[in-house]
Amino acid sequence: MNVRDEYTQSLWMDVPVVEAPSLSGSERADVVVVGSGIAGLSVAYELVSRGRSVIVLDRGSIGSGMTARTTAHLATALDDYYKELVSVRGEECARLYYQSVMAAISRAEAIQDLENIDCDFCRIDGLWVPAPETPRSLLDEELECCQRLGIPVEDRMAPTPFHSDGMVRSLRFPGQARFHPTKYLAGLASALQRAGAKLYADSCVESIEHKLDDIVVKVSSGHEVRATDVVVATNSPVNLEVAIHTKQAPYRTYVIVGKLPGG
Ligand SMILES: Cc1cc2nc3c(=O)[nH]c(=O)nc-3n(C[C@H](O)[C@H](O)[C@H](O)COP(=O)(O)OP(=O)(O)OC[C@H]3O[C@@H](n4cnc5c(N)ncnc54)[C@H](O)[C@@H]3O)c2cc1C
Repeated sequence: MNVRDEYTQSLWMDVPVVEAPSLSGSERADVVVVGSGIAGLSVAYELVSRGRSVIVLDRGSIGSGMTARTTAHLATALDDYYKELVSVRGEECARLYYQSVMAAISRAEAIQDLENIDCDFCRIDGLWVPAPETPRSLLDEELECCQRLGIPVEDRMAPTPFHSDGMVRSLRFPGQARFHPTKYLAGLASALQRAGAKLYADSCVESIEHKLDDIVVKVSSGHEVRATDVVVATNSPVNLEVAIHTKQAPYRTYVIVGKLPGG
């Protein structure tokens, strides 16, 4: 099932990404990208830009996975806190994580500019506003950790409309961004098609196997694509090479949208 078929719809789903047929024969490409969210289409874009032939396969319609349900905020702040990442992976990894996210935001900014993608991209700050029950020590520790890692962050003492009464403190992460995710994906998909990449919807990948010098990607209809390389960009991996899915648990996140006083 694709999230497009779910009962609820996000704000971004009124913009169709692109119409695409399902895979109806056997094909060949340098690279098969499985999954057409922001990860899959971005990787496909980088590959075609470097002259590789690319086929993108998605089990549902193009670009209707989690990317179409995000808050659309391109964040450098980490949901699970940098201090947690440092404790499990060390400082160097946490620093690399921050640098890679900043580089990704800059790359999205450059691509929407280069490809004239009208996706409401703009740079904004991110604020971590604590809930009333958040211990003060958590902000102190995260602030200290970010400063140690060289991550720009400001300890801000000014109330926002998000603060509970009597609270004023937040951590401000500058240089983040927001955009309209499905408009951005639509632009990426058009750029891919102009460059000769093929996009197939409703083509659920069921197996990825090495056969002699090829990798054979088989979809549920029985059709195959042969390639030299395969990128699995399905959010949770569908192959058994990396058993991440055995460690994942489903969560539902709610996003509340409202007009702020004076906004
Ligand atoms: C409520 C919410 C808020 C979020 N807020 C933020 C935020 O503020 N900032 C942020 O950075 N991130 C946020 N995220 C996370 C972000 O949206 C995701 O990390 C990101 O969109 C994942 O992109 P993706 O391309 O990896 O996956 P997806 O967009 O889910 O794309 C994966 C695609 O793979 C396809 N697929 C799956 N299995 C198969 C198969 N077997 N064969 C073929 N295709 C397959 C799916 O149909 C799907 O289209 C949020 C997510 C949610 C749900």
